[in-house]
Amino acid sequence: MLFFSGDVQAHLDELAPYVAIPSVSRDADPGTMRRAAEWVAGQLARAAGRVEETGGHPVVRGEWLGAPGAPTVLVYGHYDVQPTGSLDEWSSPPFQLTRDGEVVRARGVSDDKGPVYMALKVVQAFLAQEGGLPVNLRFLIEGEEEIGSPNLPSFVTAHAADLAADLVVSADGAMWRPSEPSLSLGSKGLVSLSIEVSGARDDLHSGRYGGTVANPAAALATILAGLHRPDGSVQVEGFYDGIPPLSPERRAEIAAVPFSEEEYARELGVPEVYGEAGYTTLERLWERPTLEVNGVGAGGKYTVIPHRAEAHISCRLVPGQDPSRVLGQVSERVRELLPRGLVVSVHPDPGAVPAYTIPPDHPAVGAARRALEAVYPGEEILLAKIGGSVPATSLFEQVLGAKTIFFSFSTADERLHAPNEFLRVRRLGEGMRAWEALLRELGAALSVSR
Ligand SMILES: [Zn+2]
Repeated sequence: MLFFSGDVQAHLDELAPYVAIPSVSRDADPGTMRRAAEWVAGQLARAAGRVEETGGHPVVRGEWLGAPGAPTVLVYGHYDVQPTGSLDEWSSPPFQLTRDGEVVRARGVSDDKGPVYMALKVVQAFLAQEGGLPVNLRFLIEGEEEIGSPNLPSFVTAHAADLAADLVVSADGAMWRPSEPSLSLGSKGLVSLSIEVSGARDDLHSGRYGGTVANPAAALATILAGLHRPDGSVQVEGFYDGIPPLSPERRAEIAAVPFSEEEYARELGVPEVYGEAGYTTLERLWERPTLEVNGVGAGGKYTVIPHRAEAHISCRLVPGQDPSRVLGQVSERVRELLPRGLVVSVHPDPGAVPAYTIPPDHPAVGAARRALEAVYPGEEILLAKIGGSVPATSLFEQVLGAKTIFFSFSTADERLHAPNEFLRVRRLGEGMRAWEALLRELGAALSVSR
Protein backbone atom coordinates (compact mmCIF):
# COMPACT_ATOMS: atom_id res chain seq x y z
CA MET A 1 0.00 0.00 0.00
CA LEU A 2 1.11 3.52 -0.69
CA PHE A 3 1.71 5.94 2.09
CA PHE A 4 -0.48 9.05 2.12
CA SER A 5 0.00 11.71 4.70
CA GLY A 6 -2.79 11.54 7.22
CA ASP A 7 -2.32 15.26 7.67
CA VAL A 8 -5.48 16.60 6.09
CA GLN A 9 -4.35 20.16 6.57
CA ALA A 10 -1.31 19.52 4.39
CA HIS A 11 -3.57 18.40 1.55
CA LEU A 12 -5.85 21.37 2.01
CA ASP A 13 -2.85 23.70 1.97
CA GLU A 14 -1.79 22.21 -1.32
CA LEU A 15 -5.26 22.29 -2.84
CA ALA A 16 -5.96 25.87 -1.74
CA PRO A 17 -3.83 27.70 -4.34
CA TYR A 18 -5.40 25.64 -7.14
CA VAL A 19 -8.90 26.43 -5.91
CA ALA A 20 -7.86 30.08 -5.59
CA ILE A 21 -7.48 30.39 -9.37
CA PRO A 22 -10.90 31.58 -10.60
CA SER A 23 -10.92 29.40 -13.72
CA VAL A 24 -14.50 30.14 -14.71
CA SER A 25 -14.56 28.87 -18.29
CA ARG A 26 -17.54 31.01 -19.20
CA ASP A 27 -15.81 34.35 -18.72
CA ALA A 28 -12.32 34.13 -17.20
CA ASP A 29 -9.48 35.72 -19.15
CA PRO A 30 -7.12 33.37 -20.99
CA GLY A 31 -4.28 34.04 -18.53
CA THR A 32 -6.36 32.83 -15.58
CA MET A 33 -7.41 29.68 -17.39
CA ARG A 34 -3.81 29.01 -18.32
CA ARG A 35 -2.64 29.41 -14.72
CA ALA A 36 -5.08 26.71 -13.63
CA ALA A 37 -3.96 24.45 -16.47
CA GLU A 38 -0.32 25.03 -15.55
CA TRP A 39 -1.00 24.13 -11.94
CA VAL A 40 -2.32 20.75 -13.07
CA ALA A 41 0.54 20.26 -15.53
CA GLY A 42 3.00 21.01 -12.72
CA GLN A 43 1.49 18.25 -10.61
CA LEU A 44 2.08 15.87 -13.51
CA ALA A 45 5.74 16.84 -13.88
CA ARG A 46 6.85 13.22 -13.57
CA ALA A 47 4.30 12.15 -16.17
CA ALA A 48 5.30 14.64 -18.87
CA GLY A 49 2.55 17.07 -17.80
CA ARG A 50 2.05 19.90 -20.28
CA VAL A 51 -0.47 22.45 -21.46
CA GLU A 52 -1.67 22.05 -25.04
CA GLU A 53 -3.68 24.39 -27.21
CA THR A 54 -7.20 23.80 -28.47
CA GLY A 55 -9.53 26.13 -30.32
CA GLY A 56 -10.51 27.50 -26.88
CA HIS A 57 -9.18 27.07 -23.35
CA PRO A 58 -6.14 24.77 -23.32
CA VAL A 59 -6.11 21.17 -22.13
CA VAL A 60 -3.58 19.53 -19.82
CA ARG A 61 -2.02 16.35 -21.05
CA GLY A 62 0.49 13.93 -19.66
CA GLU A 63 1.38 10.29 -19.82
CA TRP A 64 3.35 7.63 -18.06
CA LEU A 65 3.80 4.60 -20.29
CA GLY A 66 6.38 2.65 -18.35
CA ALA A 67 4.42 -0.60 -17.97
CA PRO A 68 4.83 -2.42 -21.27
CA GLY A 69 2.17 -5.08 -21.79
CA ALA A 70 -0.07 -3.57 -19.11
CA PRO A 71 -3.35 -1.90 -20.07
CA THR A 72 -3.55 1.84 -20.72
CA VAL A 73 -5.98 4.06 -18.85
CA LEU A 74 -6.93 7.60 -19.82
CA VAL A 75 -7.72 9.82 -16.84
CA TYR A 76 -10.25 12.53 -17.65
CA GLY A 77 -11.30 15.54 -15.60
CA HIS A 78 -11.57 19.30 -15.85
CA TYR A 79 -9.90 22.34 -14.31
CA ASP A 80 -12.59 24.86 -15.20
CA VAL A 81 -15.39 25.81 -12.84
CA GLN A 82 -18.87 27.32 -12.95
CA PRO A 83 -19.44 31.04 -12.29
CA THR A 84 -19.94 31.90 -8.62
CA GLY A 85 -23.42 33.35 -8.96
CA SER A 86 -24.36 36.01 -6.42
CA LEU A 87 -21.53 36.61 -3.94
CA ASP A 88 -24.09 37.53 -1.27
CA GLU A 89 -25.19 33.92 -1.14
CA TRP A 90 -21.72 32.62 -0.26
CA SER A 91 -20.80 32.30 3.40
CA SER A 92 -17.09 32.65 2.55
CA PRO A 93 -15.23 34.02 -0.49
CA PRO A 94 -15.79 31.52 -3.33
CA PHE A 95 -12.14 31.23 -4.34
CA GLN A 96 -10.77 30.91 -0.83
CA LEU A 97 -10.73 27.32 0.37
CA THR A 98 -12.54 27.50 3.71
CA ARG A 99 -12.74 24.67 6.21
CA ASP A 100 -16.09 24.43 7.91
CA GLY A 101 -16.18 21.41 10.22
CA GLU A 102 -16.33 18.26 8.13
CA VAL A 103 -16.32 20.07 4.79
CA VAL A 104 -14.24 22.54 2.80
CA ARG A 105 -16.03 25.18 0.82
CA ALA A 106 -15.02 26.86 -2.46
CA ARG A 107 -16.17 27.08 -6.04
CA GLY A 108 -14.87 24.03 -7.91
CA VAL A 109 -13.64 22.13 -4.84
CA SER A 110 -16.12 19.33 -5.51
CA ASP A 111 -16.55 19.83 -9.27
CA ASP A 112 -13.87 19.00 -10.24
CA LYS A 113 -10.69 20.34 -8.65
CA GLY A 114 -10.79 18.20 -5.49
CA PRO A 115 -11.46 14.94 -7.35
CA VAL A 116 -8.73 15.68 -9.91
CA TYR A 117 -6.34 16.52 -7.08
CA MET A 118 -6.89 13.07 -5.55
CA ALA A 119 -5.97 11.32 -8.82
CA LEU A 120 -2.86 13.48 -9.26
CA LYS A 121 -1.64 12.74 -5.72
CA VAL A 122 -2.04 9.01 -6.21
CA VAL A 123 -0.01 9.03 -9.41
CA GLN A 124 2.69 11.03 -7.65
CA ALA A 125 2.74 8.59 -4.75
CA PHE A 126 3.05 5.57 -7.05
CA LEU A 127 5.93 7.11 -8.95
CA ALA A 128 7.73 8.32 -5.83
CA GLN A 129 7.23 5.24 -3.68
CA GLU A 130 7.13 2.39 -6.18
CA GLY A 131 8.87 3.95 -9.15
CA GLY A 132 6.01 3.03 -11.46
CA LEU A 133 2.32 2.31 -11.89
CA PRO A 134 0.33 -0.91 -12.36
CA VAL A 135 -1.08 0.46 -15.64
CA ASN A 136 0.01 2.89 -18.32
CA LEU A 137 -1.65 6.24 -17.79
CA ARG A 138 -2.60 9.12 -20.04
CA PHE A 139 -4.19 12.34 -18.83
CA LEU A 140 -6.64 14.69 -20.44
CA ILE A 141 -7.79 17.45 -18.12
CA GLU A 142 -9.87 19.96 -20.02
CA GLY A 143 -10.85 23.58 -19.37
CA GLU A 144 -14.26 23.79 -21.03
CA GLU A 145 -16.40 21.10 -19.39
CA GLU A 146 -18.70 23.63 -17.76
CA ILE A 147 -19.47 25.26 -21.10
CA GLY A 148 -20.23 22.02 -22.91
CA SER A 149 -16.71 21.03 -24.04
CA PRO A 150 -17.00 22.80 -27.42
CA ASN A 151 -13.41 22.09 -28.46
CA LEU A 152 -13.00 18.64 -26.98
CA PRO A 153 -14.34 16.65 -29.97
CA SER A 154 -11.91 18.20 -32.45
CA PHE A 155 -9.01 17.89 -30.00
CA VAL A 156 -9.67 14.24 -29.20
CA THR A 157 -10.21 13.40 -32.86
CA ALA A 158 -6.98 15.10 -33.89
CA HIS A 159 -5.01 13.38 -31.11
CA ALA A 160 -6.81 10.04 -31.14
CA ALA A 161 -3.63 8.01 -31.58
CA ASP A 162 -1.92 9.74 -28.64
CA LEU A 163 -4.95 9.31 -26.43
CA ALA A 164 -5.54 5.64 -27.23
CA ALA A 165 -6.56 3.73 -24.12
CA ASP A 166 -8.28 0.54 -23.04
CA LEU A 167 -10.45 2.46 -20.60
CA VAL A 168 -11.24 6.01 -19.57
CA VAL A 169 -11.57 6.80 -15.87
CA SER A 170 -13.41 10.02 -15.25
CA ALA A 171 -12.54 12.01 -12.14
CA ASP A 172 -15.67 14.00 -12.96
CA GLY A 173 -19.19 12.90 -12.10
CA ALA A 174 -20.37 12.44 -8.54
CA MET A 175 -21.36 9.76 -6.11
CA TRP A 176 -25.06 9.62 -5.69
CA ARG A 177 -25.38 10.02 -1.93
CA PRO A 178 -23.03 10.62 1.01
CA SER A 179 -24.37 7.67 3.00
CA GLU A 180 -23.12 4.84 0.79
CA PRO A 181 -20.47 4.37 -1.91
CA SER A 182 -21.80 4.11 -5.45
CA LEU A 183 -20.63 3.54 -8.97
CA SER A 184 -22.30 5.22 -11.91
CA LEU A 185 -22.80 2.93 -14.89
CA GLY A 186 -23.99 5.54 -17.29
CA SER A 187 -25.35 8.97 -17.96
CA LYS A 188 -28.40 10.18 -19.77
CA GLY A 189 -28.33 11.84 -23.17
CA LEU A 190 -29.76 15.29 -23.82
CA VAL A 191 -31.64 17.16 -26.52
CA SER A 192 -33.31 20.51 -26.05
CA LEU A 193 -35.32 22.95 -28.09
CA SER A 194 -37.16 26.27 -28.01
CA ILE A 195 -40.77 26.60 -29.10
CA GLU A 196 -42.18 29.90 -30.28
CA VAL A 197 -45.87 30.46 -30.92
CA SER A 198 -46.66 33.67 -32.79
CA GLY A 199 -49.95 35.40 -33.42
CA ALA A 200 -50.61 39.05 -34.31
CA ARG A 201 -47.91 41.51 -35.30
CA ASP A 202 -48.08 43.18 -31.85
CA ASP A 203 -49.75 42.62 -28.49
CA LEU A 204 -53.49 43.29 -28.83
CA HIS A 205 -55.92 45.01 -26.43
CA SER A 206 -57.87 42.16 -24.85
CA GLY A 207 -61.12 44.13 -24.92
CA ARG A 208 -60.91 45.51 -28.39
CA TYR A 209 -59.68 42.26 -29.99
CA GLY A 210 -60.52 39.56 -27.45
CA GLY A 211 -62.58 36.73 -28.90
CA THR A 212 -61.49 37.42 -32.48
CA VAL A 213 -58.03 35.86 -32.66
CA ALA A 214 -56.24 32.88 -31.09
CA ASN A 215 -54.10 33.53 -28.03
CA PRO A 216 -50.44 32.39 -28.30
CA ALA A 217 -50.03 32.00 -24.53
CA ALA A 218 -53.07 29.74 -24.28
CA ALA A 219 -51.97 27.85 -27.38
CA LEU A 220 -48.54 27.28 -25.89
CA ALA A 221 -50.17 25.94 -22.75
CA THR A 222 -52.18 23.51 -24.90
CA ILE A 223 -49.02 22.37 -26.64
CA LEU A 224 -47.06 21.86 -23.43
CA ALA A 225 -49.95 20.06 -21.76
CA GLY A 226 -50.16 17.72 -24.74
CA LEU A 227 -46.60 16.47 -24.37
CA HIS A 228 -47.48 14.16 -21.47
CA ARG A 229 -50.32 11.75 -20.84
CA PRO A 230 -52.24 11.96 -17.58
CA ASP A 231 -50.19 8.98 -16.33
CA GLY A 232 -46.99 11.00 -16.61
CA SER A 233 -45.61 9.24 -19.70
CA VAL A 234 -44.34 11.28 -22.64
CA GLN A 235 -47.00 11.59 -25.34
CA VAL A 236 -44.75 11.82 -28.37
CA GLU A 237 -45.11 9.24 -31.12
CA GLY A 238 -42.05 6.95 -31.16
CA PHE A 239 -40.39 8.58 -28.12
CA TYR A 240 -39.87 5.26 -26.31
CA ASP A 241 -38.99 3.26 -29.44
CA GLY A 242 -35.75 1.31 -29.26
CA ILE A 243 -35.47 1.37 -25.47
CA PRO A 244 -34.89 -2.16 -24.17
CA PRO A 245 -37.30 -3.16 -21.39
CA LEU A 246 -35.94 -2.92 -17.88
CA SER A 247 -34.70 -6.39 -16.94
CA PRO A 248 -36.11 -8.09 -13.84
CA GLU A 249 -32.53 -8.25 -12.51
CA ARG A 250 -32.03 -4.51 -12.80
CA ARG A 251 -35.43 -3.83 -11.27
CA ALA A 252 -34.56 -6.06 -8.33
CA GLU A 253 -31.19 -4.35 -7.94
CA ILE A 254 -32.84 -0.92 -7.88
CA ALA A 255 -35.56 -2.10 -5.52
CA ALA A 256 -32.83 -3.21 -3.10
CA VAL A 257 -31.37 0.31 -2.88
CA PRO A 258 -32.26 1.86 0.46
CA PHE A 259 -34.44 4.79 -0.55
CA SER A 260 -37.37 6.60 0.99
CA GLU A 261 -39.71 8.42 -1.37
CA GLU A 262 -41.14 10.42 1.52
CA GLU A 263 -37.72 11.57 2.61
CA TYR A 264 -36.78 12.41 -0.96
CA ALA A 265 -39.94 14.48 -1.38
CA ARG A 266 -39.37 16.20 1.95
CA GLU A 267 -35.78 17.11 1.03
CA LEU A 268 -36.98 18.66 -2.21
CA GLY A 269 -39.91 20.44 -0.60
CA VAL A 270 -42.62 18.83 -2.76
CA PRO A 271 -45.83 17.27 -1.41
CA GLU A 272 -45.14 13.97 -3.18
CA VAL A 273 -43.02 12.41 -5.92
CA TYR A 274 -44.39 12.30 -9.46
CA GLY A 275 -43.50 10.74 -12.80
CA GLU A 276 -44.16 8.08 -15.41
CA ALA A 277 -46.57 5.45 -14.14
CA GLY A 278 -45.36 1.87 -13.86
CA TYR A 279 -41.88 2.78 -12.64
CA THR A 280 -40.45 3.55 -9.23
CA THR A 281 -38.84 6.90 -8.52
CA LEU A 282 -35.31 5.48 -8.84
CA GLU A 283 -36.21 3.63 -12.04
CA ARG A 284 -37.48 6.87 -13.51
CA LEU A 285 -34.39 8.74 -12.31
CA TRP A 286 -31.86 6.26 -13.67
CA GLU A 287 -33.46 4.18 -16.41
CA ARG A 288 -36.27 6.13 -18.06
CA PRO A 289 -36.17 9.04 -20.51
CA THR A 290 -37.94 12.26 -19.60
CA LEU A 291 -39.29 15.41 -21.20
CA GLU A 292 -39.32 18.53 -19.06
CA VAL A 293 -40.53 22.07 -19.60
CA ASN A 294 -37.63 24.28 -18.52
CA GLY A 295 -39.19 27.70 -18.92
CA VAL A 296 -42.21 29.52 -20.29
CA GLY A 297 -42.63 33.16 -21.25
CA ALA A 298 -45.52 35.23 -22.59
CA GLY A 299 -47.25 38.55 -21.97
CA GLY A 300 -47.48 39.95 -18.48
CA LYS A 301 -50.11 41.34 -16.18
CA TYR A 302 -51.53 43.80 -18.69
CA THR A 303 -54.87 43.23 -20.37
CA VAL A 304 -53.44 42.15 -23.69
CA ILE A 305 -53.40 39.18 -25.97
CA PRO A 306 -49.67 38.60 -26.21
CA HIS A 307 -48.42 38.32 -29.76
CA ARG A 308 -45.77 35.76 -28.84
CA ALA A 309 -45.25 32.95 -26.38
CA GLU A 310 -42.17 30.85 -25.97
CA ALA A 311 -40.99 27.85 -24.03
CA HIS A 312 -37.84 25.81 -23.69
CA ILE A 313 -38.03 22.07 -23.27
CA SER A 314 -35.43 19.36 -22.88
CA CYS A 315 -35.38 15.58 -22.96
CA ARG A 316 -33.00 13.34 -21.03
CA LEU A 317 -32.40 10.22 -23.07
CA VAL A 318 -31.51 6.62 -22.31
CA PRO A 319 -29.68 3.99 -24.37
CA GLY A 320 -31.65 2.99 -27.46
CA GLN A 321 -32.88 6.51 -28.21
CA ASP A 322 -31.39 8.42 -31.10
CA PRO A 323 -31.05 12.13 -30.21
CA SER A 324 -31.81 13.48 -33.68
CA ARG A 325 -34.79 11.19 -34.11
CA VAL A 326 -36.19 12.29 -30.74
CA LEU A 327 -35.76 15.93 -31.74
CA GLY A 328 -37.73 15.25 -34.91
CA GLN A 329 -40.47 13.40 -33.05
CA VAL A 330 -40.89 16.11 -30.43
CA SER A 331 -40.93 18.86 -33.08
CA GLU A 332 -43.58 16.94 -35.01
CA ARG A 333 -45.74 16.55 -31.91
CA VAL A 334 -45.45 20.26 -31.11
CA ARG A 335 -46.67 21.18 -34.61
CA GLU A 336 -49.49 18.71 -34.40
CA LEU A 337 -50.68 20.19 -31.08
CA LEU A 338 -50.81 23.77 -32.36
CA PRO A 339 -54.35 25.15 -32.24
CA ARG A 340 -55.72 26.93 -35.34
CA GLY A 341 -55.01 30.55 -36.12
CA LEU A 342 -51.35 30.73 -35.05
CA VAL A 343 -47.87 29.85 -36.24
CA VAL A 344 -45.35 27.77 -34.33
CA SER A 345 -41.62 27.48 -34.90
CA VAL A 346 -39.29 25.00 -33.29
CA HIS A 347 -35.58 25.68 -32.78
CA PRO A 348 -33.44 22.73 -31.65
CA ASP A 349 -30.37 23.68 -29.60
CA PRO A 350 -27.04 22.55 -30.98
CA GLY A 351 -25.10 19.79 -29.24
CA ALA A 352 -27.42 16.79 -28.95
CA VAL A 353 -25.86 14.14 -26.69
CA PRO A 354 -26.67 10.41 -26.79
CA ALA A 355 -26.98 8.41 -23.59
CA TYR A 356 -23.94 6.53 -22.39
CA THR A 357 -23.72 3.25 -20.55
CA ILE A 358 -21.16 0.65 -19.51
CA PRO A 359 -22.39 -2.92 -19.02
CA PRO A 360 -22.35 -4.01 -15.35
CA ASP A 361 -20.28 -7.08 -16.27
CA HIS A 362 -17.49 -5.00 -17.88
CA PRO A 363 -14.20 -5.91 -16.15
CA ALA A 364 -13.60 -2.27 -15.24
CA VAL A 365 -16.86 -2.19 -13.27
CA GLY A 366 -15.73 -5.20 -11.26
CA ALA A 367 -12.37 -3.56 -10.65
CA ALA A 368 -13.96 -0.31 -9.52
CA ARG A 369 -16.36 -2.17 -7.27
CA ARG A 370 -13.51 -4.07 -5.60
CA ALA A 371 -11.58 -0.82 -5.18
CA LEU A 372 -14.54 0.79 -3.41
CA GLU A 373 -15.07 -2.31 -1.27
CA ALA A 374 -11.47 -2.05 -0.12
CA VAL A 375 -12.04 1.51 1.05
CA TYR A 376 -15.58 1.04 2.39
CA PRO A 377 -15.39 -2.45 3.90
CA GLY A 378 -18.72 -4.07 4.63
CA GLU A 379 -20.70 -1.45 2.73
CA GLU A 380 -22.91 -2.25 -0.23
CA ILE A 381 -21.67 -0.61 -3.46
CA LEU A 382 -24.69 0.85 -5.24
CA LEU A 383 -24.83 0.72 -9.01
CA ALA A 384 -26.35 4.05 -9.98
CA LYS A 385 -26.71 6.13 -13.12
CA ILE A 386 -26.05 9.80 -13.60
CA GLY A 387 -29.30 11.58 -14.47
CA GLY A 388 -27.23 14.33 -16.07
CA SER A 389 -25.32 14.19 -19.34
CA VAL A 390 -21.56 13.82 -19.77
CA PRO A 391 -20.82 14.38 -23.48
CA ALA A 392 -17.16 13.36 -23.17
CA THR A 393 -18.11 9.72 -22.53
CA SER A 394 -19.82 9.27 -25.89
CA LEU A 395 -16.93 11.05 -27.54
CA PHE A 396 -14.37 8.69 -26.00
CA GLU A 397 -16.45 5.73 -27.03
CA GLN A 398 -16.87 6.91 -30.62
CA VAL A 399 -13.37 8.21 -31.25
CA LEU A 400 -11.18 6.08 -28.97
CA GLY A 401 -13.40 3.01 -28.75
CA ALA A 402 -12.95 3.10 -24.98
CA LYS A 403 -15.59 2.82 -22.27
CA THR A 404 -15.59 5.26 -19.36
CA ILE A 405 -16.10 4.60 -15.68
CA PHE A 406 -16.95 7.47 -13.36
CA PHE A 407 -14.68 7.47 -10.35
CA SER A 408 -15.28 10.70 -8.56
CA PHE A 409 -15.26 11.41 -4.86
CA SER A 410 -17.52 14.36 -4.96
CA THR A 411 -21.12 13.76 -3.91
CA ALA A 412 -24.16 14.93 -5.82
CA ASP A 413 -25.45 17.00 -2.88
CA GLU A 414 -22.32 19.16 -2.56
CA ARG A 415 -23.96 22.21 -4.14
CA LEU A 416 -22.16 21.77 -7.45
CA HIS A 417 -22.81 24.81 -9.66
CA ALA A 418 -24.53 26.60 -6.75
CA PRO A 419 -23.32 29.03 -4.06
CA ASN A 420 -21.41 27.44 -1.16
CA GLU A 421 -20.11 24.46 -3.13
CA PHE A 422 -18.33 22.12 -0.74
CA LEU A 423 -16.42 18.85 -0.51
CA ARG A 424 -16.48 16.43 2.39
CA VAL A 425 -12.96 16.41 3.83
CA ARG A 426 -13.02 12.66 4.48
CA ARG A 427 -13.40 12.08 0.74
CA LEU A 428 -9.80 13.21 0.19
CA GLY A 429 -8.38 10.23 2.04
CA GLU A 430 -11.07 7.85 0.77
CA GLY A 431 -10.58 8.97 -2.80
CA MET A 432 -6.81 8.57 -2.78
CA ARG A 433 -7.03 5.09 -1.24
CA ALA A 434 -9.68 4.14 -3.79
CA TRP A 435 -7.67 5.43 -6.78
CA GLU A 436 -4.70 3.43 -5.58
CA ALA A 437 -6.85 0.29 -5.28
CA LEU A 438 -8.50 0.99 -8.64
CA LEU A 439 -5.23 1.28 -10.55
CA ARG A 440 -3.98 -1.95 -8.99
CA GLU A 441 -7.26 -3.72 -9.81
CA LEU A 442 -7.34 -2.39 -13.37
CA GLY A 443 -3.83 -3.62 -14.00
CA ALA A 444 -5.07 -7.13 -13.30
CA ALA A 445 -8.64 -6.94 -14.61
CA LEU A 446 -7.94 -5.36 -17.99
CA SER A 447 -4.88 -7.49 -18.71
CA VAL A 448 -6.96 -10.63 -18.31
CA SER A 449 -9.74 -9.32 -20.51
CA ARG A 450 -7.55 -8.35 -23.45
ZN1 LIG B 1 -17.65 18.48 -13.47
